[in-house]
Amino acid sequence: MKQIAIRKHFSYFTTTSSEINGCVFDEKIEKFDEEFHELLKKYDFISLAHETRFIPIEKMSLCYCEKCNELMVNRDKNPTRFDRDEFYNDLAYIILDGGIHEGKELCQECLPVTHRWGLFS
Ligand SMILES: [Zn+2]
Repeated sequence: MKQIAIRKHFSYFTTTSSEINGCVFDEKIEKFDEEFHELLKKYDFISLAHETRFIPIEKMSLCYCEKCNELMVNRDKNPTRFDRDEFYNDLAYIILDGGIHEGKELCQECLPVTHRWGLFS
């Protein structure tokens, strides 16, 4: 049976509003895309699509878990997470949920299960 294997690639870099407005990374991203496309081609992958979104770190309460360093949304500060844009649906396993426990920002996997945002709560 013939099948098609579709892979998703997620990556990120940290930047600032002034760098975004000044297009500081345009050339770097363009060069990265060219090299990435060539790498995919080398292994017979066909590049279908890619998309970049900028997420304001403070506004969306993004941070790193203080225990395991995973990227997370502090749901105690931002209970609604991201908007309903489908782009963000795929990020559930990339950007974990999390909250505050004993003064520390912890991801869903490091929070105790009794915490509202703990993994199995
Ligand atoms: Zn964690």
